[in-house]
Amino acid sequence: MSYLKALNLRQAVALLRGNPGRIRVVAGATDLSLQEMPQVALDITALPETTGLETADGFFSLGAALTHSEIANSHPVRHKATALTEACASIGSPQIRNVGTLGGNVINAAPAADAAVALVALGAGAVMINLEGKTREEAVEDLYAGFNQTIIDSGSEIMLKLVIRPCAANEGSSFERFASRKALALPMVNGAARVEVVDGFFRSVRLVLAPINPAPTRLLNLEEKLQGAPVTEETYKKIETEAAAEVEVRASLLRCTAQYRSHLIGVLAARVVRKAAERALERK
Ligand SMILES: Cc1cc2nc3c(=O)[nH]c(=O)nc-3n(C[C@H](O)[C@H](O)[C@H](O)COP(=O)(O)OP(=O)(O)OC[C@H]3O[C@@H](n4cnc5c(N)ncnc54)[C@H](O)[C@@H]3O)c2cc1C
Repeated sequence: MSYLKALNLRQAVALLRGNPGRIRVVAGATDLSLQEMPQVALDITALPETTGLETADGFFSLGAALTHSEIANSHPVRHKATALTEACASIGSPQIRNVGTLGGNVINAAPAADAAVALVALGAGAVMINLEGKTREEAVEDLYAGFNQTIIDSGSEIMLKLVIRPCAANEGSSFERFASRKALALPMVNGAARVEVVDGFFRSVRLVLAPINPAPTRLLNLEEKLQGAPVTEETYKKIETEAAAEVEVRASLLRCTAQYRSHLIGVLAARVVRKAAERALERK
């Protein structure tokens, strides 16, 4: 295997073009190194386009090769896209967070991937560049194609960045997970919410849970029912009792029974919506 580190985007695209069928993009390699390594690994972690963290045109632009530690420690992201910093701070261990990246978390497409859940709840988009140097943007929630699969071909495309609209003054977001340990344990359930609150009522709610399907799963029926619902204890109770009914809850041999997961889904769904709403009210 050869390992190439591109120093600029033009060089990265040229290397991809010059090695069809043999090359694959690599970032932190925390997932890829446990799978079949390609003949040629193309490291994209030194590109300015994949490592920037800025606000442009009112959106956060987060390089796909930013590590979970970098995101977790970003003050602006913590303030206006809190769910993402909470998710990144919960991943693996300090060693994993120091090398594992945001883009890798999405593209590896593990059903329980923590950062991906927060990104979908926040309504993030992803920007990719192809062999012709053309870019395209897709909603993160539309990238999934099956278990451990996305529509991105890492042999001919590079994810450059994730784009998120920061929370406005009446919005808040939150992420939580239940796992058997506080570190180095995949979650039994993880979830995130982004809400907008106006005059004591939910104007909009995005509520995402995993691992339920191969991709982070939005509870679309519940999201719709919550539109216009009052921010009250009754509403949180309704979320707790109705969340699990909307999804097919599977048992996991290693993690938990379906019955326990079903209970956790209700508790976690209500918690993330409540926390996101509290943040929206605090920020007003
Ligand atoms: C011990 C351990 C614990 C872990 N714990 C957790 C956990 O708690 N929660 C969690 O969510 N994950 C966890 N992970 C998984 C992993 O660390 C994350 O998914 C991480 O974010 C992957 O990023 P990476 O940069 O290492 O990806 P890589 O391994 O470098 O790449 C993963 C995939 O994405 C592709 N890819 C990467 N970047 C790009 C890009 N910019 N453009 C195109 N293709 C790209 C690669 O080709 C590969 O297919 C754990 C892993 C380990 C080993």
